[in-house]
Amino acid sequence: MSIHRITSALHIGRWSRRGEHMPSRALREADFSAVSSLAIDQSRCLRMRFNQHSCNRCAESCHGRAISIQNGLEVTNDTCSGCMLCVSACPSGCFEIRRLDFYSVLSRLKGIPSPVLGCSDEPCVVAHEKTCCLGFLSEEHLMALSAFLQQPVQINLTACAACKNGFIVEVLKGRLETIHEKTSAAISKNIVLVEEEAELVFRDVFVGRRTFFKTIKTLAMRNAAALFPPETPKKGVSAYSGKKVPFRRALLNRILPTLSGETYGEVLKHFYYTASVDRLCDDCFSCVAACPSGAFTTEQNESEVFLLHKSSLCTGCGLCVGFCMNKAIQITPGYAKGSPHAFSRIKKENTSRQVQSSVA
Ligand code: SF4
Ligand code: SF4
Repeated sequence: MSIHRITSALHIGRWSRRGEHMPSRALREADFSAVSSLAIDQSRCLRMRFNQHSCNRCAESCHGRAISIQNGLEVTNDTCSGCMLCVSACPSGCFEIRRLDFYSVLSRLKGIPSPVLGCSDEPCVVAHEKTCCLGFLSEEHLMALSAFLQQPVQINLTACAACKNGFIVEVLKGRLETIHEKTSAAISKNIVLVEEEAELVFRDVFVGRRTFFKTIKTLAMRNAAALFPPETPKKGVSAYSGKKVPFRRALLNRILPTLSGETYGEVLKHFYYTASVDRLCDDCFSCVAACPSGAFTTEQNESEVFLLHKSSLCTGCGLCVGFCMNKAIQITPGYAKGSPHAFSRIKKENTSRQVQSSVA
């Protein structure tokens, strides 16, 4: 079968006359599988780690009431509309979107003049990159798009009004407003939410043979997968002792070095946290075990053990505050002690535990 017949059969356009490349739009539309779904790691959930924690953000964000936390973290496939708001709501990174590599999306958009990001749920949406429903775009994702692309990036929401997940438009507007309120306009100035087709500026670009054949493979897999019923959210439980920095926090840590001056300070002030421990602390160090991100650790010298905290790993989830039996931990918004990437001693008074051997 000729290459022209294959491309025509798969509805992905035609070779150019010279047979070297083809318009990217059709390829990129096919780039994200429609059978994307959630991966859920229950061990990350603050409620599962500490049953007195009050977090309910995922369930509150879910319009279809598909999430239940009472007897373990569950998502009902029948009522989940795939808006992905839970992914951006959870502070602990319990939900991840399988097959979405946001860093790859960023790097592909970076090379495109006037890039457009859209969703693959509506075939009529034009975009250079398509992902699942854009409800997963948290404040950190929006800041990353603006900071890394260094040019206006349009988020194509023109089909949202007719979509079952159209409510995400107001959510995205709210997130953008929050960024505006917390920081100078510089960090989000490149984000343009486009709701009207007449306002969208889309210029097609061309891609090479390698991308073309990779897309053929992706399409073949996607078409094969579409023959099966939709995947149920995949639930997994990794070790509760495991530490993992949620993707949103890791993304923010990558944005930070690209910022300068006032904006850098504003992001530290509004998106990072400072921990302190008062004299009620009896050095049990259970906070080290409880923190899902590994923001606490200990340091030992010849005679003492110190509690250390790293702001860049802390999501401000408050789990340690509730978990501490002595109510000795305070987590406050903002960080102004220098680099957030270093572990620093956090005890207000020099009451750190004496090393047992030296006491004896
Ligand atoms: S938002 Fe995350 S941490 Fe909070 S209850 Fe839901 S899954 Fe658990
Ligand atoms: S240090 Fe406390 S508030 Fe910060 S991520 Fe760990 S448990 Fe949550």
